[in-house]
Amino acid sequence: MSRGVREQLRGVVPDSLLDLVPKSFDVIGSKQKAVAIIEVPEEIRGHEEAIAQAVMRVQKNVASVLSKESGRAGEFRTREMRLITGDPDTEVLHRESGCAFRLDPRTVYFSPRESQERGRIASATADGEDVLVMFSGVGPLPIRIAKQRPHVHATAIELNPYAHNYCVENVHLNRVGDRVDAILGDVREVARSLDRQYDRILMPLPKGAYMFLDVAVPLLRDGGVLHFYHWAPSEDFYGEAEELVKAAFRKEGREAVVTDRFRVSQFSPRDSKVRIDAVG
Ligand code: SAM
Repeated sequence: MSRGVREQLRGVVPDSLLDLVPKSFDVIGSKQKAVAIIEVPEEIRGHEEAIAQAVMRVQKNVASVLSKESGRAGEFRTREMRLITGDPDTEVLHRESGCAFRLDPRTVYFSPRESQERGRIASATADGEDVLVMFSGVGPLPIRIAKQRPHVHATAIELNPYAHNYCVENVHLNRVGDRVDAILGDVREVARSLDRQYDRILMPLPKGAYMFLDVAVPLLRDGGVLHFYHWAPSEDFYGEAEELVKAAFRKEGREAVVTDRFRVSQFSPRDSKVRIDAVG
């Protein structure tokens, strides 16, 4: 696809700069309407309108092209984005593995690249389980799980009101409203009102989940499964994450057995997102 974009730009962007045109970019949405999110290097900023037009010509469903203006930041893990060209309404309906997620990438976290990881977690979940999804965003994890496992019940907790509202809508869109409860709030606060323990707890907040392990472990039933995500350095992918998980179980007088370690994605040469699965 990107070669197509570069081809489109031949004669428009000087040959010496063509290699700087982004190799890949995220597209979120459906065949009817999608947004593309691109990162334009400083040296070719003067050509961004032409680049965005080329993206729209090559990928006909793209109605808006957004430029990444910052890294992900803040509690909501969103980033600054600027509309380069196209429809200023950037709300889309993203389709993934038989599910549909309505969202606006300008107000919420969502990554289409994590579809495979969602599939792995849905497949690992046994039917009949009671699952807690902390940091649930617009609901892709609880919805993928509930769609794949018809007798699972999932509780989803999210702090960003935009993401929570989309989650509520997405739960209904995907017809899993009888099995997924979406709660708006801070995991730490909401946890106090939860009156049961869970078979499986997901903690998909790589930059900070460790600060909520003291909340998660007491909510996990004996022998339950914890999926803990962590931002890890390349020198040692799993050491710190494993130690954090084991220490949190020890604090509760329990012992964690690590059953899987997985490098989910690489953010930069130095940093990766990893998952530790533990039973305890
Ligand atoms: N699970 C979602 C997904 O895969 O698309 C979202 C993951 S995103 C990395 C982390 C989410 O956690 C964000 O939507 C953010 O708003 C939410 N969050 C951050 N701190 C939180 C807290 N203390 N309580 C509840 N949600 C929180």
